[in-house]
Amino acid sequence: EYLPLFLYQLNICLEKIFLYNKLQDLSIHDSLTQIYNRRYFIERFNEEFNRAKKSSFKLSFLMIDIDLFKKINDSYGHIMGDAVLRSVVNMITDSLRQIDFVGRLGGEEFSVALPKTSKSAAIIVANRIVKKVSTYKIKAFDEVVQTTVSIGVSSYPQDSLHSDMLIEISDKALYKAKKSGRNKVSWF
Ligand code: GH3
Ligand code: MG
Ligand code: MG
Repeated sequence: EYLPLFLYQLNICLEKIFLYNKLQDLSIHDSLTQIYNRRYFIERFNEEFNRAKKSSFKLSFLMIDIDLFKKINDSYGHIMGDAVLRSVVNMITDSLRQIDFVGRLGGEEFSVALPKTSKSAAIIVANRIVKKVSTYKIKAFDEVVQTTVSIGVSSYPQDSLHSDMLIEISDKALYKAKKSGRNKVSWF
């Protein structure tokens, strides 16, 4: 006679677990691109950084920014802009290994953590992404759009022993890439 009550309680319990998982998923992912949001990326990056320090692993960081993205929004509209964002994220993700992870730092800016990766190897990965994006024809809403990205690269321990400095160095390197013509990879 307790079975219906038990099943009822079990159902509530499962529903709570489902909602909890959903909430957790929403709180760490960017809703447009489904990659990690800024807050969670930084949290995971700091974890990875501490692991690299403790185990004497290398760790590289890429800061990626879509070139002249405002023009895409202005010429094709915001919805097309969103499609371009998703497409660029797919190209980035397709260029990475299982242990790498990506986040959306802001608008059209993305970050990539490359655990156990030297600076020279990270530059090769970054160049691969730049090339892939620049040659890909993005098809959406009966239109074809091409775009490019610029990337700043930095590495632990070569460039800095602090995680926030690494992000800052990649940001400066990205600025250098923008200033020297875009569609390229820069580092110090
Ligand atoms: P640069 O090569 O120097 O990076 O030029 P840019 O035009 O890419 O840079 P800017 O920072 O001037 O413009 C970024 C634009 O990205 C402006 C903003 O409206 C757009 N943007 C930010 N978030 C989103 C989004 O979620 N969807 C769309 N469609 N556009 C976005
Ligand atoms: Mg940009
Ligand atoms: Mg930007």
